[in-house]
Amino acid sequence: MTICAWCKEVACAKEDHSGKPAGCPMGQGEWLSEALAEYELTQNRAIAQVAAHTEKHGYCQWTRLQETAEFAAYAGYSKLGLAFCSGLHREARIVADFFRHKGFAVVSAICSAGGIHKETLDIKPEDRFNSTGFEAMCNPIGQAKLCNENDTDFNVVLGLCVGHDSLFFKYSKAPATVLAAKDRVLGHNPLAAVYCAHSYYAKLHK
Ligand code: SF4
Repeated sequence: MTICAWCKEVACAKEDHSGKPAGCPMGQGEWLSEALAEYELTQNRAIAQVAAHTEKHGYCQWTRLQETAEFAAYAGYSKLGLAFCSGLHREARIVADFFRHKGFAVVSAICSAGGIHKETLDIKPEDRFNSTGFEAMCNPIGQAKLCNENDTDFNVVLGLCVGHDSLFFKYSKAPATVLAAKDRVLGHNPLAAVYCAHSYYAKLHK
């Protein structure tokens, strides 16, 4: 079992790796050599280099939104996909306008695109908000396919639900990033629960 989350030494961040704890994955298995081989692939290498450039130059200066635009520009992307939740339609418009203003073409796809009844997926009435009438299903595979069909260079996910985002990532042909992770209770800031874990949200420990 890999223990990075509980590691106190973080020996991997030191050049000599001194103080590696028991349970450290370094030196075990094939994961590292396999990962290094993947970085030899041109696209992976380029993304890693652009991410490093963006991290260095925007460190503690750029918001995530700005960082996304800077990353995309430096990577040479010109067409962005924006896969968003219908609950964040207003925000999606602002984000799309921002990207356009930055010179990108934007392909935006709402989660309900396609207008397919949830029944189509055999989603039970008790798992719908409207148990008797029409309710459009979230269609993350459709959102990814829309982006793919429009040849987006880079896709940005805005507020897709847990699981729906998984399907989007699974089917997105272009590399993708998350602008905001949905958290309807905490203003789409999931870490607020973690920052309050020692106080108001102590139930996290139970
Ligand atoms: S030193 Fe090993 S266990 Fe600790 S954080 Fe790094 S990889 Fe994980």
